[in-house]
Amino acid sequence: MKYFSTRDKNNIVDSKQAILHGLSEDGGLYLPTSFPHVLPLEKLQSFSYHELACHIIHLFFDEFNEEEIRQCVNNAYDDKFDTEEITPVRQLKDCGLVELFHGPTYAFKDVALSFLPQIMKYANDGKEIMILTATSGDTGKAALEGFKDVAHTHLIVCYPEDGVSKIQKRQMQTSLGKNVSVLSINGNFDDCQRMVKKAYQDKLIRDSLDTMVLSSANSINIGRLVPQIVYYFYSYFNQVSKGILGLNEEVDFVVPTGNFGDILAGYFAKLIGLPIHHLISASNTNHVLSDFLSTGIYDRNRSFHETMSPSMDILISSNLERLLYLSCEDDSYIKELMSSLEKEGNYEIDSSMKDRIQETFLGYWASEEDCKKEIQRRYEEENILVDPHTSVALSVLRKHRELTGSTIPTIVLSTASIFKFPKSILESLKVEVPEDDFEALNQLSSIANEEIPKNIQKLKELPIRFNTCVEKEDVLSTFASIIKEAKQ
Ligand SMILES: *Cc1c(COP(=O)(O)O)cnc(C)c1O
Repeated sequence: MKYFSTRDKNNIVDSKQAILHGLSEDGGLYLPTSFPHVLPLEKLQSFSYHELACHIIHLFFDEFNEEEIRQCVNNAYDDKFDTEEITPVRQLKDCGLVELFHGPTYAFKDVALSFLPQIMKYANDGKEIMILTATSGDTGKAALEGFKDVAHTHLIVCYPEDGVSKIQKRQMQTSLGKNVSVLSINGNFDDCQRMVKKAYQDKLIRDSLDTMVLSSANSINIGRLVPQIVYYFYSYFNQVSKGILGLNEEVDFVVPTGNFGDILAGYFAKLIGLPIHHLISASNTNHVLSDFLSTGIYDRNRSFHETMSPSMDILISSNLERLLYLSCEDDSYIKELMSSLEKEGNYEIDSSMKDRIQETFLGYWASEEDCKKEIQRRYEEENILVDPHTSVALSVLRKHRELTGSTIPTIVLSTASIFKFPKSILESLKVEVPEDDFEALNQLSSIANEEIPKNIQKLKELPIRFNTCVEKEDVLSTFASIIKEAKQ
């Protein structure tokens, strides 16, 4: 299996290089030259999570042998996850809810970021790897856990100083591991992501890297997307086994979306054989994507909102570039669109491309008020608490059904644990919100009748190790000095 850049289809690399480098030198993202096909669903339906993961990941990364993939899968999905199912599915009145937050940092990013470091170990050919990662909250901590003390890897995480929840910030600031650094940027997530992309072209960074390989743990890395395909299949078969879906019957997925990585993995699942009808993208108040999916116009020239679902506070969704390519297969057109996005902050796609995208993708958004209401309603009517990101998705499902009358069986992706966002949830439930986050956790725990996960409980005792905030103009030089230090 080979990979090519969305901005130059003749720029072809093997899967090891695609994983190792994350982003292509021309600024494009890697896509497989053709999509493989899974075994018949009849065969796959009895597979465990681990067996599905081995099968699907090996289709995309066939340069690694089966034994290597199996080891990566077994190391990734072990007792770091609090359930053997890895991504269990809960049944709600109107949908299946696949819980993607049972990993070490309690967000869906763990699914991919437990795997990526494992495969990088096989991909690096003995070289030292420097991994730069921008985070809107969850990727950072998941990467910090995944790469902690992994040989030949170094990790720098940057997050927006005021753009993550207190618990998310504390999780990152208290991280352990000799090979990791964390800094915050006086800006928003888009600034962080732009800096990481810029670092690839920056001379100072290149010089300081020397023989080190620069990589990324963001979902621009194909090694992040592929492991995420697995739970689309896993949750589908769960619904089949419960008799909610017939085998080969079509299903809709609703995905709370930010950088468009998770939902794109759903599209990959469709392309390799999962019978998906619609992929419904759920946005919060930063609804660039739902606007794009209905109008064909992408326009980031708008004000940026900090919301209760911070991991979706994004105005530039990097992975959309991959969908754009797959919907026109014209690299020079993609270059044109991306350059317009960079220069003007917007672009409009032609109508044939729009039609093609709309065959599968729908987009809606939920306001802060919708999101709070949904949390409250699910609690009152079904006695279940969901985090704000999941709530955005559930609210969008409600909207979609009201507008279209759709009765297609649906699976909603639940992307984070409630314990990452205690204050927002208490506020939604209209109970008094304590000033202190750990007090809020206790209160949430007693309302949910569920223990605070141990890695969150212990944050209170852990010393803060990283506390640097840098101005945007100093980010690249700060990266460079961390890189120099890492080499010694
Ligand atoms: C990252 C994240 C999302 C958005 O996923 P993308 O792949 O960026 O679209 C949604 N919810 C949570 C909790 C997240 O951490």
